[in-house]
Amino acid sequence: MTATHFLKALEEVVGKDNVFTDEADRAVYAYDAAVLDPVMPAAVVRPSTPEALGRVVGLCNENAVPITVRGAGTNLSGGTIPKAHGVVVLTNALNRILEINVEDLYAVVEPGVITAKFAAAVEARGLFYPPDPGSQAVSTLGGNVAENAGGLRGLKYGVTRDYVMGLEFFDVNGDVVKTGSRTVKCVTGYNLASLLVGSEGTLGVIYKIILKLIPQPQHRKSMMAVFDHVLGASQTVAAIIAEKIVPATLEFLDNFTIRAVESFSRAGLPTEAAALLLIEVDGHPAQVEEDAAKVEAICRKLGAQRLRVAETAQERDKVWEARRAALSALAKLKPTVVLEDATVPRSRIPEMVQAVQEIAAKYHLTIGTFGHAGDGNLHPTILTDRRNSEEWHRVEKAVEEIFDRALALGGTLSGEHGIGLAKAPFMEKETTRATLEYSRRIKRALDPKNILNPGKVIGEA
Ligand SMILES: Cc1cc2nc3c(=O)[nH]c(=O)nc-3n(C[C@H](O)[C@H](O)[C@H](O)COP(=O)(O)OP(=O)(O)OC[C@H]3O[C@@H](n4cnc5c(N)ncnc54)[C@H](O)[C@@H]3O)c2cc1C
Repeated sequence: MTATHFLKALEEVVGKDNVFTDEADRAVYAYDAAVLDPVMPAAVVRPSTPEALGRVVGLCNENAVPITVRGAGTNLSGGTIPKAHGVVVLTNALNRILEINVEDLYAVVEPGVITAKFAAAVEARGLFYPPDPGSQAVSTLGGNVAENAGGLRGLKYGVTRDYVMGLEFFDVNGDVVKTGSRTVKCVTGYNLASLLVGSEGTLGVIYKIILKLIPQPQHRKSMMAVFDHVLGASQTVAAIIAEKIVPATLEFLDNFTIRAVESFSRAGLPTEAAALLLIEVDGHPAQVEEDAAKVEAICRKLGAQRLRVAETAQERDKVWEARRAALSALAKLKPTVVLEDATVPRSRIPEMVQAVQEIAAKYHLTIGTFGHAGDGNLHPTILTDRRNSEEWHRVEKAVEEIFDRALALGGTLSGEHGIGLAKAPFMEKETTRATLEYSRRIKRALDPKNILNPGKVIGEA
């Protein structure tokens, strides 16, 4: 089929108004939230039914045209940067919440549903969907599943993978594959949902998701612990976990990030603090009080000068919103912001925080560090200007050293941002050559023409 015939065939499937080939339209989908060069796709397609989505996948495979599915494009690893001659497929018209089942505690959704809208709809029915990436106001559930996104509540409630009960997706031919179910228990067939979660669009195209819901916690208490030493704050994180208390959230912000966030959001953060911990405990009211008292004692013992407890829901929300704005606040300060995702076992957090400080000094870079410290997931954020090639070279060195130090501490390349294009070259550092080869064999078997988001996760298959 010629390129013109191919575009015509796409138009027949999704309608003329849903195939975009103008340069301006294509440019909008040439990049994502990662700091990587944009790549112009040949076309952008917006199916509005699952059937149309499946036919688009099949058509692309028949014509050996690479396909990159895109939710909100907020991934930070280049997962939605297309191939030059490829097609970007948007999921924003597949945005229906099909069912919220309060008796059996699950929901069924299409992939383009916005995470925060879904969480609010679930909450309105008295239930709880915990995964809450910082991008939840715009990210999609399909993107969350494909990235196995985590969030501020990962420590106690886990990540997206822990809530995926079942998936329906299109294989490379556009044929329907179903895995999992609406039941709590299901061992029918291979656990294909586990293969798809975190596969970043490289093994199939998801069109329906069954998500587990849980009851709302009865009570919550949010605290802010103010430290004048970074080490004290990071030691407190490890000590709280070692005491076998599992807060719902345990977030870390260093002074640079605190100041950036405060000037951005005016939430009343103490800008003089060397570091802050934002802590929330939840559950049965008696348990919450007991845990909060223990957390407070640990914070004070390890050097917190002040502890502020949120008195009202508004006060609490203001602080959490400010924390979620950390990346946006930092991004305002310099033309280029490189957000890393180094994750270590929780007991190694103090060493990792120190390592980041050393790396910043060694390469003369500004690095603001914040993150989901309670689950070992830090986001060292380098502020730079990519046009300054000498500085950019130092940034690349620093990033590599951040990975190396995290791995040396028993950590991982990515806690939640995925591998995409950005970290594919580093995969072998954490795993083995055989691991990559094994993964490539799976990819080649399921996608022989290598059209499903090629180049991501495992590099070129
Ligand atoms: C300000 C900010 C804060 C963030 N905070 C967090 C955080 O706290 N935790 C976290 O984990 N991440 C975070 N992220 C990263 C990002 O938001 C998440 O990875 C999110 O899950 C991406 O969702 P999306 O809808 O934007 O997906 P996209 O970026 O559009 O896509 C992500 C990947 O999923 C694939 N994909 C999308 N839809 C489908 C589908 N239907 N079928 C198959 N593949 C599909 C894409 O091809 C791509 O590889 C943050 C990003 C930003 C910009």
